[in-house]
Amino acid sequence: MIIEKDKVVTFHYCLYEPDQPVLEDSRDTEPVVYLHGHKTMMPGLEKALEGKATGETVSVTLPPEEAYGPRQEVEPHRIPKKYLLTKGKLKPGQAVQISTKNGPRDATLVKVGRYTVDIDPNHPLAGKTLVFELEVMGIREATEEEIVHGHVHGEGGVSHN
Ligand code: ZN
Repeated sequence: MIIEKDKVVTFHYCLYEPDQPVLEDSRDTEPVVYLHGHKTMMPGLEKALEGKATGETVSVTLPPEEAYGPRQEVEPHRIPKKYLLTKGKLKPGQAVQISTKNGPRDATLVKVGRYTVDIDPNHPLAGKTLVFELEVMGIREATEEEIVHGHVHGEGGVSHN
């Protein structure tokens, strides 16, 4: 089986700036699971994974525009904690998602208060050219329901409970 539209793909990745140490390695946490061909994954990564089989590795370099976007020069701002979509333990410098009237967006946590948080509206990796090293861990057929919903159910996916 190879990666094509309507396959559920599990992969591990590490990423770094060219010639720099590793910034993130999914082996420290969990592999990524996504539904191929439904625009839920970074397009540059989908393109690199297209046609690959389990066990294959691929390395792809993405400019900021294709990764986490260009860095915007804006001051951090303070928002009520309820707009923070990321739950769990919070620490400054981490990537978070916040709720805005235009939908969820990436940001960097600057400071955590009791009722508010200060956020920098840039993803921590914004403005960086990144090398992604990917390893395909598994491929399966998506269920009809997953295809209709446009996302993965079960382990690593969305739960509708
Ligand atoms: Zn669903």
